[in-house]
Amino acid sequence: MRKWVRVESYSRYKGICMKQKKPYLLAEHPLLHSEVEARHTWSQVATASPGSMALARVSPTASSRSLLCPFSPSVLRPRISPHHQRGFPVAASLSQASPLPSADGDGAVMEATSRRPWRPTCLYFTQGKCTMLNDTMHLDKFNHNLSMDLPVNYSAADKVKPQKFDYFLILDLEGKVEILEFPVVMIDAQTREFVDSFHRFVHPSVMSEQRIREYIEGKYGKFGVDRVWHDTAIPFKEVLQDFEDWIGDHKLWKKEQGGALNSAAFVTCGNWDLKTKVPEQCRVSKIKPPPYFLEWINLKDVYLNFYNSRATGMMTMMRELQMPIVGSHHLGIDDAKNIARVVQHMLADGAVMQITAKRQTPIGEVKFLFKNRIR
Ligand SMILES: [Zn+2]
Repeated sequence: MRKWVRVESYSRYKGICMKQKKPYLLAEHPLLHSEVEARHTWSQVATASPGSMALARVSPTASSRSLLCPFSPSVLRPRISPHHQRGFPVAASLSQASPLPSADGDGAVMEATSRRPWRPTCLYFTQGKCTMLNDTMHLDKFNHNLSMDLPVNYSAADKVKPQKFDYFLILDLEGKVEILEFPVVMIDAQTREFVDSFHRFVHPSVMSEQRIREYIEGKYGKFGVDRVWHDTAIPFKEVLQDFEDWIGDHKLWKKEQGGALNSAAFVTCGNWDLKTKVPEQCRVSKIKPPPYFLEWINLKDVYLNFYNSRATGMMTMMRELQMPIVGSHHLGIDDAKNIARVVQHMLADGAVMQITAKRQTPIGEVKFLFKNRIR
């Protein structure tokens, strides 16, 4: 049986996973999300963006010899670049495999070249700490423009509805014991465009250094981003100070006024981030929970009420919407980007984002506003 796979010319990140007997998309082409989401045939995708991507029909026998399995250790091993060896900071967020719907047919191997291949995001840059913006090799290797992963399909706009908010702040915390990563992606509610992002790795407050090293190795080592975590992580208290400056710069909040965000709302995938984790981390870090975290939009509840489908997580939503994932699942900034892509898709489909949960005080009981919700 032959399968369809997309192949990017980008270095090693192309292939078909023979272990899983499935074609895998290892590198995303940002210009083609909408077409890929909408249709999955060779001719349509190829016509949609001639010459700008590589798409190949590959038979398993032909591909098994030359292409890598996305789960092979060589792909998952942290990438050490010459910059690293010289002591320069280089960030990497590895592309993770995601399955594409398959189509059967005869498959002669075809390969085109990609002019703008997918690149991992520079995680120093997302935190405002990239010192290599003049280095063309570094710029060539890592993406410094998050909007590349969040393109808007302007042709799919006929169902778009007016929104109550001007901006959505998609937040997806990482860290079970203490928060380790605080990524936010800002989307324009009307145009669905990427506006800005805020990203910090968070240094735990009470954990021992030995424990932190093990924890970070286990969580981020597999993405090859443990080095950048150690280089950049700051305490939660400082993260919130930086975040308040950021929402202040965007005129979404004023420290003197306090209260909720101005014309913006947090969007999370579930209630855990703001119902449980932020108050818990504030207690551990001995800080007062900020007032802007008192209400949020749980995307799962909006998804349930809009599509009438119970999606238990981001991966289910993306599978149901036939959207390939971008980057590494459980790397917070990539998850936030993927949730933002789900938001863009839902807005295009005509969903209206509304607050689904709120509390009166930072530790008060949470009131859920949707009758039909994911528990
Ligand atoms: Zn950089």
